[in-house]
Amino acid sequence: TACREGGTLVVLAKVVGGDALFGLLRATKKIDAALGTHYHGRVTDFYNYCWKQDLSFALAQTDVKGDRALRPSEQEDPDLYLRIVEERPEGIVVRGAKVHTSNTTHTNEMIVLPTRAMGEDDKAYAVSFAIPLATKGLKLIMSGYGSYTQRNPFDHPVSSAVKMTETLTIFDDVFVPNERIFLKGEWQFAGALALSFVEYHRLTAISYKLPFLDLLVGAGRLIAEYNGIEKAAHVREKLFWLASYAETTRALTHMACMKAVPADLGMMIPNPTVVNIAKHHFAAHFHQAFSHVQDLAGGILVTGPAVEDVQSEETGPLIEKYLKGKKGTSGKERLQVLNLIQDISVSDFGGYQAVLALHAEGSMEAEKLQLYREYDWRKALAFARKLARVEKER
Ligand SMILES: Cc1cc2nc3c(=O)[nH]c(=O)nc-3n(C[C@H](O)[C@H](O)[C@H](O)COP(=O)(O)OP(=O)(O)OC[C@H]3O[C@@H](n4cnc5c(N)ncnc54)[C@H](O)[C@@H]3O)c2cc1C
Repeated sequence: TACREGGTLVVLAKVVGGDALFGLLRATKKIDAALGTHYHGRVTDFYNYCWKQDLSFALAQTDVKGDRALRPSEQEDPDLYLRIVEERPEGIVVRGAKVHTSNTTHTNEMIVLPTRAMGEDDKAYAVSFAIPLATKGLKLIMSGYGSYTQRNPFDHPVSSAVKMTETLTIFDDVFVPNERIFLKGEWQFAGALALSFVEYHRLTAISYKLPFLDLLVGAGRLIAEYNGIEKAAHVREKLFWLASYAETTRALTHMACMKAVPADLGMMIPNPTVVNIAKHHFAAHFHQAFSHVQDLAGGILVTGPAVEDVQSEETGPLIEKYLKGKKGTSGKERLQVLNLIQDISVSDFGGYQAVLALHAEGSMEAEKLQLYREYDWRKALAFARKLARVEKER
């Protein structure tokens, strides 16, 4: 409901914090049990502080990463993954940069997590903490998309009202006090901590996409009706595809919750296999959904007149006459529906959504990797062996 009311955008400033804190609570309990550290109490204190103050969050996990084939400590420039550069009795100093960090421009706290598993040589990079956004040395370079124009709601019915912001988030020797440090060099647990957040965040990711998919289905059907093509076989085929895509994604999302698995601390986690299939299904077909809706709309998506011409006494009536669709439709209203499709799938907002679908909350390869890890191969293999009448497990 919040996403629908928010013009398809999620209240990420709240949910991303919950996902991170749930992951941190579980992961730090394990780290403390294994190594005798005292991180869990700090996370609990931070959790209670945020809860009582009703704070909002940015979550900085993705490092700039440099050469993707190299580990953090192997990079030519040592600052391409966030690292500890100084240890003091009262805290640590960190240097490096995270990227694509949503919400940093308008939230209270930033939680920082490692982005990947680490080796022993990467010890300085195994770091997690939380700091207020207003912290000395923290520099935010905001994304440029959508910032160059004042939008009017006729040409841009959705993106004139909503916008996401991301930053290149630079830690220029930022001090973090001890009570806000949740991982400091325990490289063996960097991967587990990264994953404990992802386990929750994949469900958030896929849940908030559902209203956008419903919007694509509705917009596709609406423009088909305005264009008078809704009964054509190929149009029904495309509308079937769109509805089926949205409902399959929804069903998988619900199933990830219904088949949630119990975890430590009495918490549940979304079913790891199903939630990754859901997110992958969504991402793998998103561009096809755009393609179908754009096909139904026609080329006027990018060639249509602007609001000034619609409002002009001279050109307005011509647009009303020449841009109407099937009998009984208004040219202006048809243009409004076309503008909706243009705004959500063709404009820079549409381009943003297309890239968001592919990469945000984890690229498709990350989901495949996770599915590969979580899937119960033994059960499937045992069944195949049995029917093949071959030897027992080798
Ligand atoms: C709109 C948006 C919002 C986001 N918000 C946040 C946020 O709030 N906080 C946050 O921490 N992150 C955020 N992200 C980051 C998101 O999680 C990453 O984009 C995603 O993990 C991919 O990382 P990348 O962009 O660095 O791309 P890359 O990792 O560079 O991926 C590009 C390609 O390289 C491949 N690749 C990468 N490494 C390897 C390798 N070692 N071997 C082979 N192939 C490889 C990938 O599979 C992919 O095909 C956001 C992203 C977007 C688009």
